Amino acid sequence: MKRMKKSFRALGTINSITVTYDEATEYKVIDSLEVIKAKVLKLDDLLSVFKETSEISQINAASKDLIHVHQDTYNIIAKSIEYSEISGGAFDITTRPLSKLWGIGKKGEYIPSEHEICEAKCFVNFEDIIVAEKPARIGLRKSGQAIDLGSIAKGYAADEAKRILVENNISEAVINFGGSVIVMGDEKKVGIQNSEKRTGIPMGVLKVKDKAIVTSGWYERYFIKDGQRYHHIIDPRTGMPADTGISSITLIGSSAMELDALTTVVFVLGMEAGLQLLERYQLEGIFVSKEQNVFITKGLKDKFEFIKEKESSEYETINTKS
Ligand code: AMP
Ligand code: MG
Repeated sequence: MKRMKKSFRALGTINSITVTYDEATEYKVIDSLEVIKAKVLKLDDLLSVFKETSEISQINAASKDLIHVHQDTYNIIAKSIEYSEISGGAFDITTRPLSKLWGIGKKGEYIPSEHEICEAKCFVNFEDIIVAEKPARIGLRKSGQAIDLGSIAKGYAADEAKRILVENNISEAVINFGGSVIVMGDEKKVGIQNSEKRTGIPMGVLKVKDKAIVTSGWYERYFIKDGQRYHHIIDPRTGMPADTGISSITLIGSSAMELDALTTVVFVLGMEAGLQLLERYQLEGIFVSKEQNVFITKGLKDKFEFIKEKESSEYETINTKS
């Protein structure tokens, strides 16, 4: 068996696909990886808030007008609204005015005033997204409102990559789009990131087979001021970085897009409400508290282990039943 890895930048992250294959199918693997790269670059062109010509930028710039959109843009936004509804607004793709105000990962250490937060919050409301079908069109009710798909686009793209591989009869692969991971084929070990350290250093490994596995953490984009960490996941209700005692959440299920949205939801709602969601969507999860305590759902008990550095550590198992 041979192995091929393709990596490229898009969606504000590094995306990689690793395929294990039989030599006789090499031409098909090369083709499929090209098709995936083209698809993800196209998604970036459609969805990026940083590209002026993207459909999202057009929607954000238009006041009230509906913009004709590609089916992918439509699908992601329609799904995002569903996640907003099921989370009581904890997930909200219109948080951009708040993210922009905080500028986490951009301006440096800027803490907005209550007044500024209050003003930005007026523009945040997923119910102001106007969705029209046949042909697909999207708009925003108030000028000043803005959509940002940063919390769901990578998951959507990873699911698309899987679809392309499956269509081409490629069954052994690992897709990793900036923390939105899909494992296909035989059981594989996936590193679970340490929320204390820089991206890329795992605290443990999880054995997974044919699953999507997505992590959201407070280490991705943040700054620390006066001992307080300000990170990129915003609670739309307070306008502040979510502070529910979680520093990282990993969810294991079948759709990377669903997990990408729900990790954000769990981060905002906290562990108790998060466990109810896991139950409802039949997902397993690994929670890391701010104090670095690790909680894993029962179904992962024999599948998770700490790596050397944390050998003496212990985790607690939890039931999803609340
Ligand atoms: P993720 O990396 O999947 O955790 O998504 C975080 C990104 O989603 C942030 O960088 C923001 O662009 C956006 N975001 C922040 N807070 C929310 C929220 N409450 N709902 C939806 N998207 C959010
Ligand atoms: Mg997410």
